[in-house]
Amino acid sequence: MLTEDNKNNKESALKINEGIEQPSQVNQEVINKFLSKTKTPSTQELIEGIKNGDRVALSRAITLIESLNPRHYCEAQKIIEACLPLSGNSIRIGVTGIPGAGKSTFIESFGTMLTELDYKVAVLAIDPSSQLSKGSILGDKVRMERLATNPKAFIRPSPSAGTLGGVSRKTKETMILCEAAGFDIVLIETVGVGQNEVAVRNMVDFFLLLLVAGAGDELQGMKRGIIEMADAIFINKADGDNINKALASAQEYKLALHLLPPHPAGWTPIVDVCSAITGYNLDKVWETIQKYINLVKQNAYFEKNRQNQEAQRIYDYLIEELNMFFWNNEKLQNEYNKLKDLVLKQKITAYQAAIKLKKLFIKLISKR
Ligand code: GDP
Repeated sequence: MLTEDNKNNKESALKINEGIEQPSQVNQEVINKFLSKTKTPSTQELIEGIKNGDRVALSRAITLIESLNPRHYCEAQKIIEACLPLSGNSIRIGVTGIPGAGKSTFIESFGTMLTELDYKVAVLAIDPSSQLSKGSILGDKVRMERLATNPKAFIRPSPSAGTLGGVSRKTKETMILCEAAGFDIVLIETVGVGQNEVAVRNMVDFFLLLLVAGAGDELQGMKRGIIEMADAIFINKADGDNINKALASAQEYKLALHLLPPHPAGWTPIVDVCSAITGYNLDKVWETIQKYINLVKQNAYFEKNRQNQEAQRIYDYLIEELNMFFWNNEKLQNEYNKLKDLVLKQKITAYQAAIKLKKLFIKLISKR
C-alpha cells in the first residue's frame, strides 16, 4: 500500500510502487470444487453425474466397477442398470497389435483427430499386468499425454488382473458407462499377446490390427489368429525410410488375406499403411471404419453381431460363475481329488468321474 508519507516524500529511498490489488488467497470456488470431489457422492448422484457427462462421476463409478468389495459391487450394478438404457450409441473400436507396434501413439493421434472432428472419444486400455509378477506393462509408460488433457477425451486403463471373464466384464461395463456419459467413440486398446484379443473382439463393432513391417517371424503363429479377427490391418510407422518396407508388407498381407474365409459381414478387410507419428493415412483409417459401419448397418450385421455378442456373454459369464462355484467349494474339491486318484489308477474312467462330480454338484446346489 502507498502511505501518505511515501507519497509526499519523493526523495525517499524507500519507494513503494502501487501494485495491482491481489485477489484473496482463499478461492472459495476452488474449495467448493475440492469439497464436492472429496465427499462421497450417493449412487443417485453418480448416475446423474454420468448422465450429465461429468467425468469425475464417471471415474468414480468405474472405480466401483473395478473394486473387489462386495458393497461396491452392488452399487456398481445399480449404476450400470441405470446407464444401460442410455448405452449402445457409440462406435466401439478395438485396437490391437504386438507391443511396440505403436498402439498408444496411434490412439493418441487418431483419438485427437476424432476430437477435432467433434467426436467425444473414450479410450479403455487393457493393461495386461501379469498376475504372477504383479507388474504392469502400461503402468510405467507415460501414455497419451496429449489426449489425456483433451476435454473431449477420456482415458481409463482397465485392470486385467483377475480372470479373463472378469476383465472382459469390467471393460464391457465401463464401456456402458462411457456411452451413457455421451462418448460417441470408444477405443479399446489391447496388447496382442493372448486371449484378451478374443474378449475384446467380442465386445467391439470394428477390430483394427496394427502391425509393423518386418516384425519377427516367431510372432506369425499368434498373428494368424488375430489376422482372422481383423476388419482392417494397418502397417504402422510408414514414415521416413520405412515407407517402402511398410508398403511391401501391406502387399504381403493383402495376398495372405485372400486365403482366409470370407468375412461374415460381407466385408473385404482392408490392408493399408499409416503413420501414427506423422498422421499419414489416419483419415483413411477413419474412412475405412465409417465405410464398414455404414455397410453393416445397412445389411443388419451390426445389430446381429451385437446381439450375438450379448448372447455369447451370458454363456461366458455363466461358465465362469459355475467354475468359480465349483472350484471354491471344498466338498467338490475333495471329491475331485479322490476321483482323480481313481482315474489315474485306472479304476474308473474320466467320464465316470465327471458324472459323479456333476451329481454331487446338483446335490449341493439343491440344498442351498
Ligand atoms: P505400443 O506398445 O504398441 O503402445 O507402442 P508405442 O505407441 O508405445 O510405440 C512404440 C515406439 O514406436 C515408440 O518409440 C513410438 O514413438 C514409436 N512409434 C509409434 N508409432 C510410430 C510411427 O508411426 N512411426 C515411427 N517412426 N515410430 C512410431
